[in-house]
Amino acid sequence: MEKNYRAQLVGVFGDPVDGNPTGVMEEAAFAACGLNYRYLTLKVTKEDFPDAMKALRAFHMRGINLTMPHKITVLPYLDTLSEAARIIGAVNTVVVQEDGSLFGENTDGKGFVQALLDQKMTLKGKNVTILGAGGAARAIAVECALAGASSVLIVNRTEERARELADVIQKNTSAKALWQKWEGSLRISSNTDLLVNATSIGLHPDSDSLPPVDYDTIHAGMAVSDVVFNPADTLFLREAAKRGAKTVNGLGMLARQGALNFTLWTGVPAPIPVMEETLRREFSLS
Ligand code: NDP
Repeated sequence: MEKNYRAQLVGVFGDPVDGNPTGVMEEAAFAACGLNYRYLTLKVTKEDFPDAMKALRAFHMRGINLTMPHKITVLPYLDTLSEAARIIGAVNTVVVQEDGSLFGENTDGKGFVQALLDQKMTLKGKNVTILGAGGAARAIAVECALAGASSVLIVNRTEERARELADVIQKNTSAKALWQKWEGSLRISSNTDLLVNATSIGLHPDSDSLPPVDYDTIHAGMAVSDVVFNPADTLFLREAAKRGAKTVNGLGMLARQGALNFTLWTGVPAPIPVMEETLRREFSLS
C-alpha cells in the first residue's frame, strides 16, 4: 500500500498571534495520539483574512482557530453554526466537514463548563456572577445559561457592554439575566454560587493586580473561577481560597477548549492531562 506523507493541517489565524500557546498544546496532543496533524500559528491581518479563508480551502485544511480580530469577521464564511456560537455571535473554531462545508463553534465557554464538571461542579439551578463583558465573559455567560444556570449577573466597568450581554442571555436562554455597572469594590451577593473573573486583571506581567471586589463577601459556599491562565494560581483565586471558596483556574479552561477543538478536528478523544501539562511547562518558562 502507498504511504501517505501528507499531514492534516489545522491552526490559528490571528493578529497579533505570536504569543498564542495553543499550537504547542495541540501539537503535543497530536504527538501523544500518534496523529499526523500539524497546527500552524499564522499571522493573518484583517486585510488578508479573505485570502486566508481561500487558503484554508486551497491547502485542504481540516479546520482553524480564530483569535483577534477575526472571531466575528469569519461569520459570513460559515455554512452552519452551533447554538452557542450563534448566541455568542463569535466563533473561535471552524471545522471543514466531509462535504466541504464550514461549521463554526465557540469552545471557550464549553471549555469553562467542562473544567467545572471535571471538578464535580454543575451549573443547574446555580446563581452565577461574572466580572467582565468581553469575549471570554460572553462565551462563559452564554454557556452557563445554556447549562441550566438559574441566574447570570454580568458586572462590567462599561455599563453598555454589561447590558447588551444580559439582553442576549435573557432573549436566548431560560436563565434570568441581570447586569450591574462595576463601581468601586464590588460586594458579592451571598446567594452567588459561582463567581467568575472574566476580565484580564491579574494577567502576566500584572499578576499583582486584583479585581476590585470586597473579598470578605466571598464565603466557603461559593466556587470561584478565573479565566486568567498565566499565572494559573492568580491572586484573585488565592484571595478566594483564603475565604474557603473552592477554586477553578483558567488553565483548565484553556486546555479543555483546546481538547474540544482537537476532537472536533480529529474525531479522537483528547489527551487532556498532556495538554494541561504542556501549558504549565510553557508558562513556567515565560
Ligand atoms: P476583552 O478585551 O474582550 O474583554 C476584557 C474585559 O475585561 C472587559 O469586560 C473589560 O471591561 C474588562 N477589564 C479589563 N481591564 C479592566 C479593569 N482594569 N477594570 C475593570 N474591568 C476591566 O478580552 P477577552 O474577554 O478576550 O479576554 C479576557 C481575559 O480572558 C484575558 O486575560 C484572556 O487571556 C482570558 N481568556 C482565557 C481563556 C481561557 O481559556 N482560560 C480563553 C479566552 C480568554 P470594559 O468592557 O469596561 O473594557
